[in-house]
Amino acid sequence: MAEYRIALIPGDGIGPEVTGEACAVLDAVGRRHGHAFRTLPVLAGGAAIDATGAPLPDETLETCRECDAVLLGAVGGWKWDTLPGHLRPERALLGLRSGLGLYANLRPATLHPALAAACPLRADIAAQGIDVVFVRELTGGMYFGDRGRREGKFGLEGFDTEAYGVGEVERIARVGFELARGRRKKLTSVDKANVLESSRVWREVVVRVAAEYPDVALDHMYVDNASMQLIRRPSDFDVVVTTNMFGDILSDEAGQITGSIGMLPSASLGDPGKPGMYEPVHGSAPDIAGKDLANPLATILSVAMMLRLSLKLPKEADEVERAVTAVLASGARTADIRQPGDGNAPLGTKAMGRRVVEALGA
Ligand code: NAD
Repeated sequence: MAEYRIALIPGDGIGPEVTGEACAVLDAVGRRHGHAFRTLPVLAGGAAIDATGAPLPDETLETCRECDAVLLGAVGGWKWDTLPGHLRPERALLGLRSGLGLYANLRPATLHPALAAACPLRADIAAQGIDVVFVRELTGGMYFGDRGRREGKFGLEGFDTEAYGVGEVERIARVGFELARGRRKKLTSVDKANVLESSRVWREVVVRVAAEYPDVALDHMYVDNASMQLIRRPSDFDVVVTTNMFGDILSDEAGQITGSIGMLPSASLGDPGKPGMYEPVHGSAPDIAGKDLANPLATILSVAMMLRLSLKLPKEADEVERAVTAVLASGARTADIRQPGDGNAPLGTKAMGRRVVEALGA
């Protein structure tokens, strides 16, 4: 029996509720296929602050490093909002990203046919389908560049710097090309090369890496145009690779056109062979925590990404995604994805998780 070790960070708010259902799905996959998924619960975020005084205890990072993958619910909440920045729960996320070397953030934006009515775009555009994966560079660019305050022409000014090195662009470009290779073989690189020097280097490197992937069609788009095309003709996109800041903004736009935040999974990856981290895009939702109201599907779909990308179990990943699609097609809805006129009463977190396990036939 193959054994896989997964560091489990339930976190705060709805985190424990949604990871609870995701683990039930993982167990069901294990039963069906004879895999042993060993989850090792560890603390991070507010829960870790309460227990140890620090948002990311050393043992948590050590356990994560020793596992095949990390599954995270969400961190943060009102209780810890007044703590100084370095002691805030969200600090744990930065510590995990840098501690595990997670430089590639993958965010799929998929419009499930059963949820087409939740898409805010025109019906004829939504009908063409949306199935895009954003590959956002996660550890470089403006969010990590030189910054500060200085005296300028208009008085005190603040500045931030965007810088990208060749090696940094090469590795994220390869993640994009590899992903596109396993999908519809189309990669769009988004930059602002008409204005920014860092974008010109970005584009040169992406073009060079493209020579290694002759089977993948590459195109380039300026970020302003990309933000328009995403709502004009989203079905044209397959995989999008872009910088930290552009990816932050565009992936949120793409997430919104596919419906609720409760449906969006994500993966953060480092070098091959190192553990990746999988988490829903949403936060800890303190407003609905502990009420059995949270949609667990984003976390369940994050487990599907974990099966495919870190545990190399693509068949099992497909099964989980198909089970979610079947559950939605059957009309099952949590409150966040319910549309006016939907007949059935909304399901709670646990009931939705149970439906997915039943659809898996386990
Ligand atoms: P949020 O994503 O937690 O909630 C935004 C809104 O979406 C809320 O109305 C919430 O009820 C709803 N929502 C979120 N997830 C849902 C789900 N699965 N099902 C149904 N409804 C859902 O964002 P926020 O309110 O800005 O942040 C709350 C806390 O989460 C803050 O402390 C923030 O720092 C933290 N946060 C953590 C992460 C993370 O851990 N990766 C990400 C974002 C925010």
